[in-house]
Amino acid sequence: MIRMLFAVAVIGFAAISLWACDSPPEPAPVPEVGTETETASEAASEIAHETSSEVASSGAAPFPYDPPTQLIAGSGPSYTNTKNWAPGICFPLADTPSYANSQVWKPGGYERPDNPSQCAPENYAYPWQDNFCETRTGSNVMCKTGTKGHQGQDIRPKTCKTNTYWAVAAEDGVVTNVASMTVAITGKSPPYRIYRYLHMQSSTLKVAYGDHVVRGQKLGLVSNNLGLKNGVQQYTTIHMHFEVRVAQAETLPDGTVLSANTFVPPYVALVDAYERKLGGDCPPIG
Ligand SMILES: [Zn+2]
Repeated sequence: MIRMLFAVAVIGFAAISLWACDSPPEPAPVPEVGTETETASEAASEIAHETSSEVASSGAAPFPYDPPTQLIAGSGPSYTNTKNWAPGICFPLADTPSYANSQVWKPGGYERPDNPSQCAPENYAYPWQDNFCETRTGSNVMCKTGTKGHQGQDIRPKTCKTNTYWAVAAEDGVVTNVASMTVAITGKSPPYRIYRYLHMQSSTLKVAYGDHVVRGQKLGLVSNNLGLKNGVQQYTTIHMHFEVRVAQAETLPDGTVLSANTFVPPYVALVDAYERKLGGDCPPIG
């Protein structure tokens, strides 16, 4: 009996000793650990961000483009304001090269009946060409006429293939409109731009009204979707029509007041975004 009690005592002591040896060191206060972890994480994030920015700025690659406001001869009134209306945006297509040019005055467009192929090599080649304020029926106070004109910039994707290339978010924001052939995003930071994308294939959309999106996030595939007319599907050329609008009233240096939702020229911002894209900015997300 005594021997048994001794054995139990020895085992108990050994167990206590073992527990003591295995017991973890006094934990550091949780808030302190948490703070350190966040700080390290933030630092890493900042470094990554800085590195990305440096790569983007140092690697910005020039490419051939016609100057802003220089439309195809005879294609429209053009415009005069060459401000960058959306500085720092992500180029709205995921793949390069992409080709900004006219869908109407180039091969396959209704103003070029002599050349019916939208897949003509000249459509998929530099230089880029501005086509804001081409002759169209939509209202556009920024055009020289002060009344009507093309409200955005048309961009062909990498090749003449529909439902193949992703459109991506120009900046962090919220999806504020989804319709039969349009998606709009309102940026969450100054200068509060509204970006509208036309002609994505509806069935490929990865976002819905009210979604929060981040810069570079995939939205949908570029297609030839021109929406429905009397319930019948209409088609355009394979391209992305990209618009920039002011979300709130703004005053130009000459005193002209642009009311909220006014279309503004996207070409200068797109040239800048594309140069950064070619330099590594804005990898697609999602
Ligand atoms: Zn267009």
